[in-house]
Amino acid sequence: MEKSIFQIPFKTINRMKLYKKSQYWNADQLASYQDEKLKKLLIHTGKHVPYYRELFKEIGFNPNTSRGREGLTQIPTLEKETVRTRKIEFIADNAAKYGMTKDSTSGSTGTPLHLILSDNVQANKIAALLRSYNWAGYKIGTKTFSLQSYYFPASEFKYNRFYNILRFDSNKLQKSSALRVIAEINRFKPKFFMGFPFDILMLARFAREEGIEINSPQSIVTYGETLSEAKRKQLKTEFNCKVFNFYSLHECSAMIAECEAGNLHLIDDFAYHEVIEENGKKRLIGTSYYNYSMPLIRYEIRDNIELCDSSELCSCGRHFSRIKEIIGKECDYIQTSGGRFLGAVMSHSIDNADGVICSQCVQHSIDEVDINLITDSRFRSKSQKELEIGLRKRLGEKMKLKFNIVNELEKRPGGKTPFILSKIGNEYF
Ligand SMILES: [Zn+2]
Repeated sequence: MEKSIFQIPFKTINRMKLYKKSQYWNADQLASYQDEKLKKLLIHTGKHVPYYRELFKEIGFNPNTSRGREGLTQIPTLEKETVRTRKIEFIADNAAKYGMTKDSTSGSTGTPLHLILSDNVQANKIAALLRSYNWAGYKIGTKTFSLQSYYFPASEFKYNRFYNILRFDSNKLQKSSALRVIAEINRFKPKFFMGFPFDILMLARFAREEGIEINSPQSIVTYGETLSEAKRKQLKTEFNCKVFNFYSLHECSAMIAECEAGNLHLIDDFAYHEVIEENGKKRLIGTSYYNYSMPLIRYEIRDNIELCDSSELCSCGRHFSRIKEIIGKECDYIQTSGGRFLGAVMSHSIDNADGVICSQCVQHSIDEVDINLITDSRFRSKSQKELEIGLRKRLGEKMKLKFNIVNELEKRPGGKTPFILSKIGNEYF
Protein backbone atom coordinates (compact mmCIF):
# COMPACT_ATOMS: atom_id res chain seq x y z
CA MET A 1 0.00 0.00 0.00
CA GLU A 2 1.07 3.49 -0.71
CA LYS A 3 2.15 5.40 2.36
CA SER A 4 -0.19 8.12 3.41
CA ILE A 5 1.07 11.54 2.48
CA PHE A 6 0.06 12.62 5.93
CA GLN A 7 2.68 10.59 7.79
CA ILE A 8 5.60 12.89 7.34
CA PRO A 9 9.02 11.70 8.44
CA PHE A 10 12.07 13.87 8.88
CA LYS A 11 13.55 12.85 5.50
CA THR A 12 10.46 14.15 3.74
CA ILE A 13 10.63 17.49 5.52
CA ASN A 14 14.22 17.90 4.29
CA ARG A 15 13.18 17.13 0.74
CA MET A 16 10.27 19.55 1.01
CA LYS A 17 12.75 22.30 1.85
CA LEU A 18 14.87 21.47 -1.20
CA TYR A 19 11.88 21.16 -3.54
CA LYS A 20 10.65 24.55 -2.42
CA LYS A 21 13.85 26.03 -3.84
CA SER A 22 14.53 23.69 -6.76
CA GLN A 23 11.21 24.52 -8.45
CA TYR A 24 12.71 27.91 -9.32
CA TRP A 25 16.13 26.71 -10.49
CA ASN A 26 17.19 27.94 -13.90
CA ALA A 27 17.79 25.52 -16.78
CA ASP A 28 21.51 25.13 -15.98
CA GLN A 29 20.96 24.41 -12.31
CA LEU A 30 18.30 21.84 -13.17
CA ALA A 31 20.50 20.18 -15.78
CA SER A 32 23.49 19.86 -13.47
CA TYR A 33 21.26 18.37 -10.75
CA GLN A 34 19.95 15.81 -13.26
CA ASP A 35 23.48 14.93 -14.44
CA GLU A 36 24.74 14.51 -10.91
CA LYS A 37 21.79 12.33 -9.82
CA LEU A 38 21.89 10.16 -12.96
CA LYS A 39 25.65 9.70 -12.75
CA LYS A 40 25.41 8.47 -9.17
CA LEU A 41 22.48 6.22 -10.03
CA LEU A 42 24.29 4.65 -12.99
CA ILE A 43 27.40 3.92 -10.92
CA HIS A 44 25.26 2.37 -8.18
CA THR A 45 23.26 0.18 -10.59
CA GLY A 46 26.39 -0.94 -12.47
CA LYS A 47 27.91 -2.07 -9.19
CA HIS A 48 24.97 -3.43 -7.21
CA VAL A 49 22.07 -4.36 -9.51
CA PRO A 50 22.45 -7.77 -11.23
CA TYR A 51 20.29 -6.90 -14.25
CA TYR A 52 22.32 -3.76 -15.02
CA ARG A 53 25.67 -5.36 -14.22
CA GLU A 54 24.96 -7.84 -17.01
CA LEU A 55 23.39 -5.35 -19.38
CA PHE A 56 26.19 -2.78 -19.10
CA LYS A 57 28.76 -5.50 -19.82
CA GLU A 58 26.74 -6.69 -22.80
CA ILE A 59 26.36 -3.24 -24.39
CA GLY A 60 29.78 -1.96 -23.35
CA PHE A 61 28.44 0.85 -21.20
CA ASN A 62 30.79 2.21 -18.57
CA PRO A 63 28.83 3.98 -15.82
CA ASN A 64 32.02 5.38 -14.28
CA THR A 65 32.71 7.56 -17.29
CA SER A 66 29.06 8.51 -17.80
CA ARG A 67 28.23 12.19 -17.58
CA GLY A 68 24.59 11.76 -16.65
CA ARG A 69 22.04 12.64 -19.29
CA GLU A 70 24.55 12.39 -22.10
CA GLY A 71 24.97 8.80 -23.16
CA LEU A 72 21.92 7.61 -21.25
CA THR A 73 20.28 6.71 -24.56
CA GLN A 74 22.95 4.03 -25.02
CA ILE A 75 20.93 2.05 -22.48
CA PRO A 76 17.87 0.42 -24.06
CA THR A 77 14.45 1.37 -22.66
CA LEU A 78 12.95 -0.99 -20.12
CA GLU A 79 9.59 -2.76 -20.56
CA LYS A 80 7.24 -3.46 -17.66
CA GLU A 81 7.18 -7.09 -18.82
CA THR A 82 10.94 -7.42 -18.19
CA VAL A 83 10.53 -6.08 -14.65
CA ARG A 84 7.55 -8.38 -14.06
CA THR A 85 9.36 -11.56 -15.13
CA ARG A 86 12.88 -10.76 -13.85
CA LYS A 87 12.03 -8.75 -10.74
CA ILE A 88 14.72 -10.32 -8.51
CA GLU A 89 17.50 -9.14 -10.86
CA PHE A 90 16.43 -5.52 -10.41
CA ILE A 91 16.83 -5.55 -6.64
CA ALA A 92 20.19 -4.14 -5.54
CA ASP A 93 22.41 -6.54 -3.59
CA ASN A 94 22.69 -3.83 -0.91
CA ALA A 95 19.01 -2.81 -1.02
CA ALA A 96 18.52 -3.36 2.73
CA LYS A 97 20.72 -0.32 3.30
CA TYR A 98 18.26 1.91 1.45
CA GLY A 99 15.03 0.46 2.82
CA MET A 100 12.82 -2.16 1.19
CA THR A 101 9.14 -1.28 1.28
CA LYS A 102 7.05 -3.65 -0.80
CA ASP A 103 4.58 -2.07 -3.15
CA SER A 104 2.39 -3.44 -5.88
CA THR A 105 0.50 -1.89 -8.72
CA SER A 106 -1.36 -2.84 -11.81
CA GLY A 107 -1.53 0.69 -13.14
CA SER A 108 -4.19 1.35 -15.71
CA THR A 109 -3.07 -1.50 -17.94
CA GLY A 110 -4.20 -4.38 -15.71
CA THR A 111 -0.70 -5.84 -15.47
CA PRO A 112 0.23 -6.63 -11.86
CA LEU A 113 3.73 -5.62 -10.83
CA HIS A 114 5.57 -6.03 -7.52
CA LEU A 115 8.05 -3.36 -6.54
CA ILE A 116 10.55 -2.53 -3.83
CA LEU A 117 10.84 1.13 -2.86
CA SER A 118 13.68 2.76 -0.94
CA ASP A 119 12.96 5.14 1.96
CA ASN A 120 14.49 7.95 -0.06
CA VAL A 121 12.26 7.54 -3.10
CA GLN A 122 9.20 7.50 -0.89
CA ALA A 123 10.28 10.65 0.94
CA ASN A 124 10.93 12.33 -2.41
CA LYS A 125 7.58 11.26 -3.79
CA ILE A 126 5.65 12.65 -0.84
CA ALA A 127 7.62 15.91 -0.89
CA ALA A 128 7.21 16.40 -4.66
CA LEU A 129 3.53 15.50 -4.45
CA LEU A 130 2.90 17.97 -1.63
CA ARG A 131 4.64 20.69 -3.63
CA SER A 132 2.39 19.93 -6.62
CA TYR A 133 -0.70 20.08 -4.39
CA ASN A 134 0.62 23.36 -3.07
CA TRP A 135 0.45 24.75 -6.63
CA ALA A 136 -3.26 23.94 -6.44
CA GLY A 137 -3.57 25.87 -3.18
CA TYR A 138 -3.12 23.03 -0.70
CA LYS A 139 -1.17 23.31 2.54
CA ILE A 140 -0.86 20.68 5.26
CA GLY A 141 -3.78 21.32 7.57
CA THR A 142 -6.12 22.71 4.87
CA LYS A 143 -9.60 21.22 5.32
CA THR A 144 -9.57 18.42 2.77
CA PHE A 145 -11.88 15.81 1.33
CA SER A 146 -10.07 12.83 -0.16
CA LEU A 147 -11.58 10.01 -2.14
CA GLN A 148 -9.39 6.95 -2.62
CA SER A 149 -9.19 3.21 -2.32
CA TYR A 150 -8.77 3.23 1.46
CA TYR A 151 -10.05 -0.28 2.29
CA PHE A 152 -11.86 0.85 5.47
CA PRO A 153 -13.20 -2.48 6.73
CA ALA A 154 -16.21 -1.19 8.63
CA SER A 155 -16.89 2.36 7.50
CA GLU A 156 -17.46 4.35 4.34
CA PHE A 157 -15.60 7.42 5.49
CA LYS A 158 -13.35 8.52 8.32
CA TYR A 159 -12.42 11.91 9.61
CA ASN A 160 -8.89 12.66 10.77
CA ARG A 161 -9.07 15.64 13.07
CA PHE A 162 -5.31 16.11 13.37
CA TYR A 163 -4.73 16.45 9.63
CA ASN A 164 -8.13 17.99 8.98
CA ILE A 165 -9.07 15.47 6.33
CA LEU A 166 -12.27 13.61 5.55
CA ARG A 167 -11.46 10.36 3.76
CA PHE A 168 -14.00 8.43 1.71
CA ASP A 169 -13.37 4.86 0.60
CA SER A 170 -14.09 4.82 -3.14
CA ASN A 171 -14.59 1.04 -3.03
CA LYS A 172 -17.89 1.84 -1.30
CA LEU A 173 -19.16 4.38 -3.81
CA GLN A 174 -22.93 4.08 -4.25
CA LYS A 175 -25.81 6.50 -3.92
CA SER A 176 -26.59 5.87 -0.25
CA SER A 177 -22.95 6.19 0.89
CA ALA A 178 -22.44 9.20 -1.37
CA LEU A 179 -25.40 11.02 0.18
CA ARG A 180 -24.07 10.33 3.66
CA VAL A 181 -20.62 11.69 2.81
CA ILE A 182 -22.13 14.72 1.03
CA ALA A 183 -23.95 15.60 4.27
CA GLU A 184 -20.60 15.31 6.03
CA ILE A 185 -18.89 17.51 3.39
CA ASN A 186 -21.57 20.15 3.79
CA ARG A 187 -21.00 20.20 7.53
CA PHE A 188 -17.17 20.11 7.32
CA LYS A 189 -16.83 22.45 4.29
CA PRO A 190 -13.44 21.27 2.91
CA LYS A 191 -11.51 23.78 0.81
CA PHE A 192 -9.70 21.10 -1.14
CA PHE A 193 -10.93 17.90 -2.86
CA MET A 194 -8.68 15.19 -4.19
CA GLY A 195 -9.43 11.87 -5.87
CA PHE A 196 -10.47 10.03 -9.03
CA PRO A 197 -12.39 12.41 -11.33
CA PHE A 198 -15.03 9.77 -12.06
CA ASP A 199 -15.82 9.27 -8.37
CA ILE A 200 -16.02 13.00 -7.62
CA LEU A 201 -18.38 13.46 -10.58
CA MET A 202 -20.56 10.62 -9.31
CA LEU A 203 -21.03 12.52 -6.04
CA ALA A 204 -22.23 15.51 -8.05
CA ARG A 205 -24.60 13.31 -10.03
CA PHE A 206 -26.16 11.74 -6.93
CA ALA A 207 -26.55 15.18 -5.34
CA ARG A 208 -28.24 16.51 -8.44
CA GLU A 209 -30.64 13.55 -8.58
CA GLU A 210 -31.70 14.31 -5.02
CA GLY A 211 -31.83 18.06 -5.53
CA ILE A 212 -29.16 18.78 -2.94
CA GLU A 213 -26.08 20.97 -3.20
CA ILE A 214 -22.49 20.06 -2.39
CA ASN A 215 -20.39 22.69 -0.70
CA SER A 216 -17.83 23.76 -3.34
CA PRO A 217 -14.11 23.55 -2.58
CA GLN A 218 -11.58 26.15 -3.82
CA SER A 219 -9.80 23.55 -5.91
CA ILE A 220 -9.86 19.90 -6.91
CA VAL A 221 -6.79 17.79 -7.65
CA THR A 222 -7.55 14.70 -9.70
CA TYR A 223 -5.37 11.64 -10.23
CA GLY A 224 -5.54 7.90 -10.82
CA GLU A 225 -7.35 8.13 -14.14
CA THR A 226 -7.22 10.16 -17.34
CA LEU A 227 -8.76 13.59 -16.95
CA SER A 228 -10.53 14.14 -20.25
CA GLU A 229 -11.52 17.63 -21.35
CA ALA A 230 -15.15 16.61 -20.85
CA LYS A 231 -14.52 15.50 -17.27
CA ARG A 232 -12.52 18.62 -16.47
CA LYS A 233 -15.27 20.84 -17.84
CA GLN A 234 -17.92 18.98 -15.92
CA LEU A 235 -15.98 19.15 -12.67
CA LYS A 236 -15.54 22.90 -13.13
CA THR A 237 -19.23 23.37 -13.80
CA GLU A 238 -20.44 21.12 -10.99
CA PHE A 239 -18.14 22.52 -8.32
CA ASN A 240 -17.45 26.00 -9.66
CA CYS A 241 -13.75 25.78 -8.77
CA LYS A 242 -10.30 25.27 -10.25
CA VAL A 243 -9.32 21.76 -11.37
CA PHE A 244 -5.72 20.52 -11.35
CA ASN A 245 -4.54 17.34 -13.03
CA PHE A 246 -1.90 15.27 -11.26
CA TYR A 247 -0.13 12.18 -12.57
CA SER A 248 2.27 9.80 -10.88
CA LEU A 249 2.91 6.08 -10.75
CA HIS A 250 3.93 3.55 -8.13
CA GLU A 251 7.20 2.94 -9.96
CA CYS A 252 8.08 6.61 -9.23
CA SER A 253 9.46 6.91 -12.78
CA ALA A 254 7.58 10.09 -13.64
CA MET A 255 5.44 12.85 -12.21
CA ILE A 256 3.30 15.42 -13.98
CA ALA A 257 1.50 18.29 -12.29
CA GLU A 258 -0.48 21.35 -13.25
CA CYS A 259 0.81 24.70 -12.06
CA GLU A 260 -1.03 27.85 -10.97
CA ALA A 261 -0.97 29.06 -14.60
CA GLY A 262 -2.89 25.95 -15.69
CA ASN A 263 0.02 24.36 -17.55
CA LEU A 264 1.19 20.77 -17.18
CA HIS A 265 4.81 20.32 -16.14
CA LEU A 266 7.04 17.25 -16.06
CA ILE A 267 8.46 17.30 -12.53
CA ASP A 268 12.08 17.21 -13.66
CA ASP A 269 13.69 17.38 -10.21
CA PHE A 270 11.75 14.27 -9.14
CA ALA A 271 12.44 12.02 -12.14
CA TYR A 272 14.27 12.21 -15.43
CA HIS A 273 11.73 12.26 -18.25
CA GLU A 274 12.34 11.48 -21.91
CA VAL A 275 9.91 11.51 -24.79
CA ILE A 276 10.33 9.07 -27.67
CA GLU A 277 8.47 9.79 -30.86
CA GLU A 278 7.42 6.79 -32.92
CA ASN A 279 4.59 6.23 -35.39
CA GLY A 280 3.25 9.70 -34.72
CA LYS A 281 2.94 8.98 -31.00
CA LYS A 282 5.02 10.41 -28.19
CA ARG A 283 5.84 7.91 -25.48
CA LEU A 284 6.91 8.93 -22.00
CA ILE A 285 10.04 7.25 -20.62
CA GLY A 286 11.07 7.84 -17.02
CA THR A 287 13.97 7.23 -14.65
CA SER A 288 13.69 7.72 -10.91
CA TYR A 289 16.82 9.29 -9.44
CA TYR A 290 16.10 7.99 -5.97
CA ASN A 291 15.08 4.32 -5.88
CA TYR A 292 18.43 2.67 -5.15
CA SER A 293 16.71 -0.46 -3.82
CA MET A 294 15.18 -1.38 -7.18
CA PRO A 295 16.35 1.03 -9.88
CA LEU A 296 14.49 1.13 -13.17
CA ILE A 297 16.34 3.01 -15.90
CA ARG A 298 14.54 4.43 -18.94
CA TYR A 299 11.27 2.77 -17.95
CA GLU A 300 8.52 2.57 -20.60
CA ILE A 301 5.54 4.13 -18.87
CA ARG A 302 3.12 3.22 -21.64
CA ASP A 303 1.19 6.43 -21.47
CA ASN A 304 1.53 8.86 -24.32
CA ILE A 305 1.78 12.59 -24.03
CA GLU A 306 1.21 15.54 -26.33
CA LEU A 307 4.02 18.07 -26.32
CA CYS A 308 3.49 21.76 -25.82
CA ASP A 309 3.39 23.94 -28.95
CA SER A 310 5.21 26.73 -27.22
CA SER A 311 8.79 26.58 -25.98
CA GLU A 312 8.25 29.75 -24.00
CA LEU A 313 8.88 29.74 -20.30
CA CYS A 314 5.66 29.20 -18.36
CA SER A 315 4.32 32.29 -16.66
CA CYS A 316 4.71 30.48 -13.33
CA GLY A 317 8.47 30.99 -13.79
CA ARG A 318 9.47 27.33 -13.48
CA HIS A 319 11.87 25.74 -15.95
CA PHE A 320 10.30 22.28 -15.73
CA SER A 321 9.38 20.96 -19.20
CA ARG A 322 5.87 21.73 -20.31
CA ILE A 323 3.48 19.29 -21.97
CA LYS A 324 0.07 19.83 -23.47
CA GLU A 325 -1.74 16.66 -22.54
CA ILE A 326 -1.43 13.22 -20.97
CA ILE A 327 -3.06 10.64 -23.20
CA GLY A 328 -3.68 7.97 -20.59
CA LYS A 329 -5.80 4.86 -20.60
CA GLU A 330 -9.55 5.22 -20.77
CA CYS A 331 -11.45 2.94 -18.40
CA ASP A 332 -15.22 2.54 -18.44
CA TYR A 333 -16.85 1.80 -15.11
CA ILE A 334 -18.65 -1.14 -13.57
CA GLN A 335 -22.06 -0.95 -11.97
CA THR A 336 -23.29 -3.61 -9.53
CA SER A 337 -26.88 -4.67 -8.90
CA GLY A 338 -26.35 -3.39 -5.34
CA GLY A 339 -25.82 0.11 -6.75
CA ARG A 340 -22.05 0.42 -6.49
CA PHE A 341 -20.05 2.28 -9.13
CA LEU A 342 -16.43 1.29 -9.63
CA GLY A 343 -14.00 3.02 -11.97
CA ALA A 344 -10.20 3.09 -11.89
CA VAL A 345 -10.32 1.82 -8.30
CA MET A 346 -10.96 -1.66 -9.79
CA SER A 347 -7.35 -1.91 -10.91
CA HIS A 348 -6.36 -2.44 -7.25
CA SER A 349 -8.16 -5.81 -7.32
CA ILE A 350 -5.52 -7.38 -9.48
CA ASP A 351 -2.36 -5.92 -7.94
CA ASN A 352 -1.27 -9.26 -6.57
CA ALA A 353 -2.20 -11.81 -9.21
CA ASP A 354 0.83 -13.94 -9.99
CA GLY A 355 1.33 -14.99 -13.58
CA VAL A 356 -1.03 -12.39 -15.06
CA ILE A 357 0.53 -10.56 -18.00
CA CYS A 358 -2.55 -8.46 -18.76
CA SER A 359 -6.11 -8.38 -17.53
CA GLN A 360 -9.44 -6.82 -18.39
CA CYS A 361 -12.96 -6.65 -16.88
CA VAL A 362 -15.83 -6.74 -19.38
CA GLN A 363 -19.33 -6.13 -18.03
CA HIS A 364 -22.00 -7.84 -20.14
CA SER A 365 -25.00 -7.34 -17.84
CA ILE A 366 -25.69 -5.84 -14.44
CA ASP A 367 -24.80 -9.13 -12.71
CA GLU A 368 -22.17 -10.55 -15.02
CA VAL A 369 -18.52 -9.60 -15.50
CA ASP A 370 -15.98 -11.46 -17.60
CA ILE A 371 -12.37 -11.33 -16.51
CA ASN A 372 -10.09 -11.75 -19.50
CA LEU A 373 -6.57 -12.77 -18.63
CA ILE A 374 -3.40 -13.17 -20.62
CA THR A 375 -1.25 -15.41 -18.44
CA ASP A 376 2.15 -17.08 -18.34
CA SER A 377 3.37 -20.37 -16.86
CA ARG A 378 3.35 -18.96 -13.33
CA PHE A 379 -0.43 -18.67 -13.38
CA ARG A 380 -2.06 -21.27 -11.08
CA SER A 381 -5.59 -21.96 -9.86
CA LYS A 382 -4.38 -20.25 -6.66
CA SER A 383 -3.69 -17.06 -8.64
CA GLN A 384 -7.26 -17.14 -9.94
CA LYS A 385 -8.64 -17.64 -6.40
CA GLU A 386 -6.62 -14.65 -5.14
CA LEU A 387 -7.86 -12.60 -8.04
CA GLU A 388 -11.44 -13.55 -7.23
CA ILE A 389 -11.05 -12.54 -3.57
CA GLY A 390 -9.81 -9.09 -4.66
CA LEU A 391 -12.63 -8.66 -7.15
CA ARG A 392 -15.35 -9.88 -4.75
CA LYS A 393 -14.27 -7.26 -2.20
CA ARG A 394 -15.52 -4.63 -4.61
CA LEU A 395 -18.10 -6.38 -6.74
CA GLY A 396 -19.82 -8.33 -3.96
CA GLU A 397 -20.87 -11.97 -3.78
CA LYS A 398 -23.76 -11.77 -6.22
CA MET A 399 -21.83 -10.79 -9.34
CA LYS A 400 -21.23 -13.70 -11.71
CA LEU A 401 -17.53 -13.75 -12.54
CA LYS A 402 -16.27 -15.71 -15.53
CA PHE A 403 -12.52 -16.08 -15.99
CA ASN A 404 -11.28 -16.47 -19.54
CA ILE A 405 -7.68 -17.17 -20.42
CA VAL A 406 -7.27 -15.40 -23.74
CA ASN A 407 -4.56 -14.58 -26.26
CA GLU A 408 -5.84 -11.08 -26.86
CA LEU A 409 -7.95 -8.62 -24.87
CA GLU A 410 -11.16 -7.14 -26.25
CA LYS A 411 -10.87 -3.86 -28.06
CA ARG A 412 -13.24 -0.93 -28.41
CA PRO A 413 -14.55 -0.21 -31.91
CA GLY A 414 -11.91 2.56 -32.12
CA GLY A 415 -9.11 0.05 -31.42
CA LYS A 416 -8.27 0.95 -27.81
CA THR A 417 -7.99 -1.75 -25.15
CA PRO A 418 -9.39 -0.45 -21.87
CA PHE A 419 -8.93 -2.26 -18.55
CA ILE A 420 -12.68 -1.95 -17.90
CA LEU A 421 -15.02 -2.36 -20.85
CA SER A 422 -18.71 -1.70 -20.28
CA LYS A 423 -21.33 -3.20 -22.56
CA ILE A 424 -24.21 -1.85 -20.46
CA GLY A 425 -23.70 1.82 -21.22
CA ASN A 426 -21.18 2.96 -18.59
CA GLU A 427 -18.56 4.19 -21.00
CA TYR A 428 -15.66 6.51 -20.31
CA PHE A 429 -16.40 10.06 -21.32
ZN1 LIG B 1 3.87 26.66 -15.00
